[in-house]
Amino acid sequence: MDEADIAAERLEREMERLLRLRRASGPAPTGACLWCGETIEADRRWCDADCRDDWERAHALRRA
Ligand SMILES: [Zn+2]
Repeated sequence: MDEADIAAERLEREMERLLRLRRASGPAPTGACLWCGETIEADRRWCDADCRDDWERAHALRRA
């Protein structure tokens, strides 16, 4: 295996790690809706799809 192969493999592993991080990232469930603050089940993050959509839109805007 030459140096280019090693570099390519390292890059591939790094990309995988970043993808995994991104999937795992985002807010953890807190027991309250992240958008409106409504109390919800502990393993949920939003009370309904509308809140999730609004939250995601707000975050997409902030990122842009
Ligand atoms: Zn909500």
